[in-house]
Amino acid sequence: MKRFLLSNISIKIGIGFFLALIAIIIVQYLTDNSIENLKTSQQEMLRSNYLTSKVSLIESSVYAYDNKISDFVCTGNSYFLKNNEVNLKQAIVNMQFLLDQNLSGDQKILVIKLDSLVKMEINAAQQTLADYHNESKSDAIAQVSSGIGERILDDISYVVSSFQRMESENLSRIIERRNQHTREVEMMNNMATGFAIVVIVISIMVLFRDIKRRNKVELELRNAEKQAYKVAEMKEQFMANMSHEIRTPMNSILGFANFLSHTELNKDQQDYIRAIQASGENLLTIINDILDFSKIEAGMLHIEKVAFNPAELFHSLQVMFQQRADEKNLSLNFNVDDIPVTLIGDPTRLTQILVNLINNAIKFTKQGGVSVTVRKLTENDDEIFLDFQVKDSGIGIPHEKLDAIFDRFNQADTDTTRKFGGSGLGLSIVKKLIELLNGKIKVESNVGIGTVFIFQLPFKKNSVAFKENLSDNKIESPKPATSAAVLVVEDNIMNQKLAQSLLQYWGFKFEIAENGNVAIEKLKVKSFDLILMDIQMPELNGYDTAFFIRNNLKLDTPIIAMTAHALQGERDKCIRYGMNDYISKPIHEKELLKLIEKYLNIGQPELSSNQNHYKSSQSNNKITNLQYLNDLSNGKPEFVRQMVDLFILEAPEEIAKLEQAINQMQYEDIYSIAHKFKSTAYFVGIDSAKSDLITIERCASEKSNPELIRSCFIKVKDVCNRAVDELKSL
Ligand code: ADP
Repeated sequence: MKRFLLSNISIKIGIGFFLALIAIIIVQYLTDNSIENLKTSQQEMLRSNYLTSKVSLIESSVYAYDNKISDFVCTGNSYFLKNNEVNLKQAIVNMQFLLDQNLSGDQKILVIKLDSLVKMEINAAQQTLADYHNESKSDAIAQVSSGIGERILDDISYVVSSFQRMESENLSRIIERRNQHTREVEMMNNMATGFAIVVIVISIMVLFRDIKRRNKVELELRNAEKQAYKVAEMKEQFMANMSHEIRTPMNSILGFANFLSHTELNKDQQDYIRAIQASGENLLTIINDILDFSKIEAGMLHIEKVAFNPAELFHSLQVMFQQRADEKNLSLNFNVDDIPVTLIGDPTRLTQILVNLINNAIKFTKQGGVSVTVRKLTENDDEIFLDFQVKDSGIGIPHEKLDAIFDRFNQADTDTTRKFGGSGLGLSIVKKLIELLNGKIKVESNVGIGTVFIFQLPFKKNSVAFKENLSDNKIESPKPATSAAVLVVEDNIMNQKLAQSLLQYWGFKFEIAENGNVAIEKLKVKSFDLILMDIQMPELNGYDTAFFIRNNLKLDTPIIAMTAHALQGERDKCIRYGMNDYISKPIHEKELLKLIEKYLNIGQPELSSNQNHYKSSQSNNKITNLQYLNDLSNGKPEFVRQMVDLFILEAPEEIAKLEQAINQMQYEDIYSIAHKFKSTAYFVGIDSAKSDLITIERCASEKSNPELIRSCFIKVKDVCNRAVDELKSL
């Protein structure tokens, strides 16, 4: 619009200049013309004067010539004839000059008449002179006295004065014409100048009007932009609220499903719970995708620049996906080559990109594996460019679909959703995120062979080295908490129940307040060790409650915000209002427990000193490997201990159940128990049982090969018994 207006103004200025130029050319042309006319008039006047003077000269020469001859004849004094030839010559030459001129008709008539009179006069004078010389002086004197010569001279005078009159009239005409012409030129000049001035004035007015209009349009554009931004913000807020509304019940659904899965269930019930969990997780992914997408579209996605440890990030991803890869019997390798220990960038977005790509790679691969390669591309003093490749040996993408694969809601196959789920938003988010991080992505694929997503991203180098090392598990010195009391501030009854169940399960004392006001009343009369604070509540919300607790009650009880808000900066906002930490809903019990432990500083000192003891179980000749548990524990040894205890308790029971199912060849039971035990075994790193369990699972799902199932089970049972013994001995 702006550009159109600008071009419109330039067109108008151009037209104005063009018209003014034409006016100036006309003025110039007329001026030239008038000068030319003036010159012509001047020449005509000069010529007229010249001709008149010549005519007068002829008259005077003839007159002088005749007079001198008359005087000589009458006096006989030859002195009068001296130099008389000059008069004659002058008369003849000037006469000839006049005859040679290009004269007008009237002029010509008079000149010819004059010429004949002059000739007559000269002849008469010469005849008189000849008579005188031929001794007939008296004839000559009689001739002179006869007055013939004088009459001719009178005629000459008459012709000359006619000529002069005519020329004088001619001159007046020339002058009149010249004046007329000058007036015309002046008028044209004035008109052209006036026209140029009008054009310039109109151009300036148009220019001002257009500039005013442009300013108005610009203002309107700015207002529209502001409006659009407001709408985008409202959309973003709406999306956040919607996601909050969906996440809150999802939180309850997933939490209770998780909680139910810990209880005694029959096989059908387990299946139902698994279905609830899978659908719930799926729905959450879609909600997150839509929220992310709308944030990116609205330009509201904030890109962070923080120092992070890339190796740690890749390690977490490996931990995150290993189990899924194992479940599908796929290899998952991370090859990280020659990159700095710390980088500055946005680890959350990088994780999001890689999670999407690895997730797809595992989802669309039936056999073989997935590899993630990260290597340095180039670097300069303060930046490093990394090349990432996520490669799989999966179903591949048809060539004609490759271009559209990054478009939103686009899936390579129409039945992809039916077969694999998904919304078709993941890759478009990945692409947009990579572009926001100033990188680019491409994909190469062959149907039936596999797919590789390749992207490059720049990162800033970090001059300050990270102190933490990937393999270091920080062991805090734990303080045993004596019956810690937790205040749960939550309005949603389902969430209240979930919190109650979890806290009971973990053995904490707790009270529930349904909103901020109730919480404040409770805090006035009783002290708590920790507060779990929901944000959106009736009467008094979480932010204001936290603020009141800090500023009015002056309490420094740790407050952990629990919110389904996925907005950027939510955590900062919670901390600004005086809360200590933040956990997003749906709450993962491990994450919540970890946070609670962190703020209650719970732990058992003897376990921490046993850290090396556990590590000793990871030597090569051992069956178990507690590395995974150590990684998950984030340095909390009691977590490892709980899990080990759980394994010692659960494993023989699960093996017994599996044996019973195999004895009765209940394929469905065999499948589900083997599947469940695979996860149990995974926690304590029993790699040697993995392949046998997968074989049992596969045969059971195909309802075939009972012998193979039995022989594999014998190996699994043996390994499991040895593992239990090994862990008991720790
Ligand atoms: P979805 O949620 O459907 O997976 P994505 O945007 O992540 O959405 O992917 C879009 C489509 O691209 C998928 O539906 C699938 O058809 C194809 N696709 C993505 N990654 C792969 C892969 N690694 N192998 C084969 N096809 C893939």
